Amino acid sequence: MLETAQQNIREAATRLGYSEQKIQALLEAEAEHIFEIELKNGKKFTAYRVQHSNKLGPFKGGVRFHKQVNLDEVRALATLMSLKTAAVGLPLGGGKGGVVVDPKTLSADEIEELSRAYARHLAPHIGSDKDVPAPDVNTNAQIIDWMVDEFEKTIGKKDAASFTGKSTKYGGSEGREAATGLGGAISLREFLKSKNLLNSPLTVALQGFGNVGYFFAESIKKVAPNLKLIAIANSKNTWVNSDGINVEGRQKSIPQPEDLDDLKNAKILPSSEIIGVQADILVLAALEDAVTKENVDKVRADFIVELANGPISKQAEDTLIERKKVILPDVIANAGGVTVSCLEWQQNLAGETWTELSVNQKLDEVISAATQKTIRYASKNNVSLKQAAFEIALKKLLD
Ligand code: NAD
Repeated sequence: MLETAQQNIREAATRLGYSEQKIQALLEAEAEHIFEIELKNGKKFTAYRVQHSNKLGPFKGGVRFHKQVNLDEVRALATLMSLKTAAVGLPLGGGKGGVVVDPKTLSADEIEELSRAYARHLAPHIGSDKDVPAPDVNTNAQIIDWMVDEFEKTIGKKDAASFTGKSTKYGGSEGREAATGLGGAISLREFLKSKNLLNSPLTVALQGFGNVGYFFAESIKKVAPNLKLIAIANSKNTWVNSDGINVEGRQKSIPQPEDLDDLKNAKILPSSEIIGVQADILVLAALEDAVTKENVDKVRADFIVELANGPISKQAEDTLIERKKVILPDVIANAGGVTVSCLEWQQNLAGETWTELSVNQKLDEVISAATQKTIRYASKNNVSLKQAAFEIALKKLLD
């Protein structure tokens, strides 16, 4: 993923005529914090915070708790955040954090101790005007609430805007949970409008049915009702029902695909088969490097939406573009989450609380404008949408 992000930056920056020195400077982070956290019981964990760019505002990006976290992954995600905030036009920079831990092996008390230690260690380097972390894979509002509390205790004053993704009682924003999926649906709506396809009965195959995938599926019913979801995959299976899949209203938590009525009699295939399902649109909402040179030949959809970060490797992307497939890039399509994070930060700084309707309207404005701008740029300069988004971002980051 780091290689793909760096190659995309290099390609776009070279086309724009930036010097090697400027490109090299952007590939390197402003600061990297690598440290060890030791719990009272002696368990030790490696932790990272990569602060990539703060040219456009405080560093911004999630903190991931996962056993496969490594420095290159955190660097790649931090770099993509800088590109994303710049491409979308948010007053924020890019950063990312992570701890190498399988949280399933820890008790709730150990997770709290780990989260607090992470915030305490980084306290001199973060804050509402320096670096604003948020949740990511395996971290949630509770973990962020602990981090804010520990950070405020360490610095000796209140700073609610120091983290986003808090629970609403600690200043979290309405609409954050659904924001990435909803933003993806809005971006796809704008793309289809530009192709005069919004009213066409197109079919959709969706890889990943977690936070992003579920809310995307739920949102297209409202945002682009002519789209028909016909396949869903998670890490276990692919389910296909060409009559259409209604994801149903959420009860307490996000449903599992096997619990959906429309999938009770669906055709079941191996998880990896989602890539080759015959659908007009393939939405990648699971993980990085989902499409690589090994499986790119299977892709049948004409349009691919990147809702995960870096789900298509550079080689696969080049192949898809050669075959006239259109990719709606991650830095625009999945920017709904960071957009609502930005709205949370702005609410906290202003001491205000906005309604879900108002947050969603602002989200729609930001993502629609960014998608339209990217489409116009791509068509004017005869480049792919990803290259257009990167060039728009690079001009802001390098000029
Ligand atoms: P999640 O853990 O809630 O859901 C991930 C889903 O992907 C699950 O359904 C899982 O079963 C599925 N999956 C995992 N491996 C798979 C495989 N090999 N094949 C098919 N499905 C597989 O995660 P999420 O929050 O929905 O995030 C999904 C992606 O979007 C991640 O790459 C994340 O970095 C990115 N992203 C998330 C947000 C956000 O706000 N949550 C914002 C921007 C980007």
